[in-house]
Amino acid sequence: MSEGYVNTIETFGTLDGPGIRYVLFLQGCPLRCQFCHNRDTWDRSGGKKTSVEEVVADVAQYLPFYQNSGGGLTISGGEPMLQIDFTRQLLQAVKDRLRLHTALDTCGLVEPEKAEALLRWTDLVLMDIKAVDPAEHKALTGVSNEKILVFAKWLQEIGKPVWIRHVLIPGVNDDKEHLTALAELMRDKNHVERVEILGYHKLGIHKWKELDQEDPLAHVPTAKAADVQRAREFLRAQGLAVVS
Ligand code: SF4
Repeated sequence: MSEGYVNTIETFGTLDGPGIRYVLFLQGCPLRCQFCHNRDTWDRSGGKKTSVEEVVADVAQYLPFYQNSGGGLTISGGEPMLQIDFTRQLLQAVKDRLRLHTALDTCGLVEPEKAEALLRWTDLVLMDIKAVDPAEHKALTGVSNEKILVFAKWLQEIGKPVWIRHVLIPGVNDDKEHLTALAELMRDKNHVERVEILGYHKLGIHKWKELDQEDPLAHVPTAKAADVQRAREFLRAQGLAVVS
């Protein structure tokens, strides 16, 4: 069994998938999102070396909470696909031995053929669509979204249940044009169980400061609740399963 590099563990997560969840944030990310609130996960050389066995034993301690709430394990990051063998082995062990629901929170920057084995042990994929337009995606994250959109299309082809997330950033992607492009991308996708619109916030700013890094969105305010609600309603009117 392989070992992975873990940034943080949350044993009582309620945001990253159904029910109560053990959320494992892995170290390392290939993207450089300007709105990232987990800035400390980027460096691939950091994190705590942890074995699959150690994580499974830790998850098992809280099993009744996950079982009784319809919850399970979510592997997040950073980007779990950077530690693809560890992620696959852990998903498989938790599914096989603990019979828990499994979710993978990914940016989608991976070739389908590399992700195939891992997806067999994954019940739900959480995917954050950062931008639809490739140039805007690159400006916002440092990486083009071509590969990501191929991965998203493949998830549709194999009928994998997906929750889509989108961070609404004031003055950057909160206008009608951006929301319409997002709606177009998501339209008639039966495997997308829900769409979550999350307002841009500053809760992770201290992580940039701790690393002596400048916040690239220092000039951008937190998203207003009313604007987030308006965006949700706009997308609902386009036929998307947007949750509040
Ligand atoms: S993909 Fe997630 S962890 Fe990586 S930079 Fe973007 S927001 Fe941060």
